[in-house]
Amino acid sequence: MYLKNSKTIVIKLGSALLVSEKQIFRQNWLENFAKDVKELLNKKKNIIIVSSGAIALGCKKLNLNKKNIKLDKSQAVASIGQIELINVFKKIFSKNNINISQILLTLEDTEQRRRAINAKRTFDNLFKLGYVPIVNENDSIATSEIKYGDNDRLASRVAQISSADCLILLSDVDGLYSKDPKIFKTAKLINEIKSINNDVEKYATRNSGKYGTGGMKTKLEAAKICQNSGCVMAIANGFKKRPLKNIDKKYNCTWFLPKISKLHARKKWIVSSISPKGNLIIDDGAVSALKKGKSLLAAGIKKVSGEFYKGDHVKILDKNLKEFARGLSSFSAEEIRKIQGEHSNKIKDILGYISKSEVVHKDDMVEV
Ligand code: GLU
Repeated sequence: MYLKNSKTIVIKLGSALLVSEKQIFRQNWLENFAKDVKELLNKKKNIIIVSSGAIALGCKKLNLNKKNIKLDKSQAVASIGQIELINVFKKIFSKNNINISQILLTLEDTEQRRRAINAKRTFDNLFKLGYVPIVNENDSIATSEIKYGDNDRLASRVAQISSADCLILLSDVDGLYSKDPKIFKTAKLINEIKSINNDVEKYATRNSGKYGTGGMKTKLEAAKICQNSGCVMAIANGFKKRPLKNIDKKYNCTWFLPKISKLHARKKWIVSSISPKGNLIIDDGAVSALKKGKSLLAAGIKKVSGEFYKGDHVKILDKNLKEFARGLSSFSAEEIRKIQGEHSNKIKDILGYISKSEVVHKDDMVEV
């Protein structure tokens, strides 16, 4: 039902689906998957595929074991493997008359608003042209500080930016279990999750395979981004026969339902940031002002952590360090350290120049 009701669908493929532990490329798998994609395209859906596998295919080509390679070498390996990845997609998808294009993203492409809007436009134009974008992180360029690092969160950010209705994370697990199914026979697959509470967090034990970088933890983070973006998300087993064809019929995966949200696209983008640069810890008075829809003023800020510039994403925490809201700061961390606790009319004297009076304006802030 969820897939049926969706117009724009993002599908993320984990490396394990494309390359086996013995470094064998799973051609049959991709051929079946292409049939599933074709069916969705015939139903006039817009499809984006976020595919891992550049590093896995690079390792296969060079006969290397991924575990033993360092970051700088893995960047070269990804550069070699990405072309292999696109080649196999091109070969198999053209047999099914599916046109593909390639988009390689770095963190800044989604975290800077202007670039995110630009990426959205590119996706929209590719849909109009009848193309399926194959997205991956630009692993050859991104360094650890500016990296998504896992394609689960990358895919959720792509879903949010492209205003997708549905994200499917296809991997080698059926979904989220109440316990580790490899150890406990009583483990139950959870079919539907409305809110990601502490119990759900506990279920998410790490279980990444040899080639994938994400585990359940990054999948849950992706789910949180989707919930805030009004996008339904599934964790499903890609090894099931025709995994997409069956996903709506049988309850054999975990669905995360979106929060009902009237937020404007820009605010969805703010709350889904995956790289907040710092924290603002605020007092109780400021918490109640924010709850009433007011902006955050310097007077209510008790502490600043992290280094950030004007316009960067920040988390707003209450005195117990519980995240309360997210927003874009109108000042740098250095400036806020000078003005915290002060009345707004003193800002000009303290900083020596005229600036905004709100540290985070209400239009740039979302309660979480
Ligand atoms: N971008 C990486 C690759 O293509 C994979 C990251 C992941 O597995 O989540 O190899």
